[in-house]
Amino acid sequence: MTLNIDRVSRSQGNRFTSVRLDRLVERRDDARWVAAALAAPEARYVPLWRSRNLLQSSAAGTLAVYLRHGQLDHVDLLQRPTLLGTDEKRTYFAINLSDAQKDAVLEAHADAEFADLRRYSIAMDAKHAGILAYAKALHYWQHRHRFCGFCGTGNRLSSAGHKMVCSNDECGRQTFPRIDPAIIVLITHEDACLLGRNPNWPARRFSTLAGFVEPGESLEDAVVREVYEESAVRLRTIRYVSSQPWPFPASSMCGFYAEAESRDCQTSEELEELRWYNPEQLTQALNAGELLLPPPVSISFQLLADWFRQRSGEDLEAVCQAAASAAQGR
Ligand SMILES: [Zn+2]
Repeated sequence: MTLNIDRVSRSQGNRFTSVRLDRLVERRDDARWVAAALAAPEARYVPLWRSRNLLQSSAAGTLAVYLRHGQLDHVDLLQRPTLLGTDEKRTYFAINLSDAQKDAVLEAHADAEFADLRRYSIAMDAKHAGILAYAKALHYWQHRHRFCGFCGTGNRLSSAGHKMVCSNDECGRQTFPRIDPAIIVLITHEDACLLGRNPNWPARRFSTLAGFVEPGESLEDAVVREVYEESAVRLRTIRYVSSQPWPFPASSMCGFYAEAESRDCQTSEELEELRWYNPEQLTQALNAGELLLPPPVSISFQLLADWFRQRSGEDLEAVCQAAASAAQGR
């Protein structure tokens, strides 16, 4: 079976990828332009406090809450804002709030809270989920690289938040945003796919296999190694499918399909249980409440959903929702 999915459109369908901002790369070093854009009425600030985003949830879904110029006291005292980009109408900046500013913002937005984007993003508009994820990723990097990795002197932010420069003039090392590449892979054999269970996950949760790419490895090398380490499965073919920025905290998820040579497998320290499911068995296990899948915001779920749709013609998210409502009724 060949899964015919265009990779660009497939990646665009993954959560957090829909950032259609012009990133204004050519403006980042133009301090006057950045200062004017920051004070302009069309500026929108993405507030971040301790890596959490400002969100407002209701029965209708979750909204990203942006701040405007004038809504925040002492903006000039903040760590310099990070220029994210423009959607032609508005220019977006990420700003890092102090505890006192956080309290003032929450007082002015009584129905909002600083919350974990991963938990709420499925109920958000894709564009705004993407902007918030982009802001969160840069914010995390800035906080984890406050000191020069070469001489240990403090770094200062440069290029409107997209570069760190060592403040020791004799060193002057530059650091750029870091991303940790990880592979995630749906393994199939004939009509079935393999799911594994990590002992630290919630009860009954199973997922696709995943792991970080190591230095000196191609993405495909990492797929072969991780799959063998975690499940002792030997692979016959590997195909890249789509990718997803995953700022929890700093990954780039590269999604693959792989065909196993056989269904022989073995559990490992990382995966205490492994199960092969064909689409009917997967549906039955979901309906029986024996199996929980990762949330639809994850590329793991999307890899499974594409496979499921091509095999059975059905929508996996709808199957999961029906199983969840049936479980509530029991
Ligand atoms: Zn240095």
